[in-house]
Amino acid sequence: MRLILLGLPGAGKGTQAKILATRKGLLHISTGDMFREAAAAGTELGKRAQDYMSKGELVPDEVTIGMLLERIEKPDAQIGLMLDGFPRTIPQAEALDRALAGRGQQIDAVLYIQVPESDLMARLTGRWSCPNCGAIYHNQTKPPKAAGKCDECGAALTQRADDQPATVKTRLDTNRAWTEALADFYRKQGKLHEVDGTGAMEAITDRLVESISRIPGAA
Ligand code: AMP
Repeated sequence: MRLILLGLPGAGKGTQAKILATRKGLLHISTGDMFREAAAAGTELGKRAQDYMSKGELVPDEVTIGMLLERIEKPDAQIGLMLDGFPRTIPQAEALDRALAGRGQQIDAVLYIQVPESDLMARLTGRWSCPNCGAIYHNQTKPPKAAGKCDECGAALTQRADDQPATVKTRLDTNRAWTEALADFYRKQGKLHEVDGTGAMEAITDRLVESISRIPGAA
């Protein structure tokens, strides 16, 4: 089985991809993780990718496609795939289809985790940190005992530029544009499964598993 997971930032895509890959015996491939590993190892590919990643831009298709296609040809990828963060552009999706077709394979389904914009904003803008001791809080999951103050040292909490509402909104808008384009691409192929991404993490996993069980030919 070869699956793709789609979802906006904050939708829980990475977490669910790992859980589902383990449950279904698929190889989890995150192109974001691959780029971060390459950057940490200081390889030529990593150095190239780092420039784009630090600006929050997409790494060019020719770099990304080559890296992904090479990875899915390896023997350990033949058990099945759970792709996370790839494809992000239509040329990437087309290159993936072509490469798989060349081996008599295909993408079986694309699971699109749907979360309302207001929930994503709340999840992504809720993080605050202490400029003094580095402690991290979240309005929803780990609120400080006294509003706006660090539990450890009492300093006033601050918000990183990345987590501020205006920045988060821009990130969501950019991601929505390519995510919707890909959703359309796979909808036309009859492969798109939309899954409700609200509620507890376990409930979302259950819905995804249920969705996978309805894929033609799924075990
Ligand atoms: P992620 O962890 O999926 O958010 O990816 C981190 C960064 O890696 C992104 O902001 C991009 O710069 C780069 N990246 C990951 N996957 C892709 C892709 N499929 N196409 C282009 N750039 C990517």
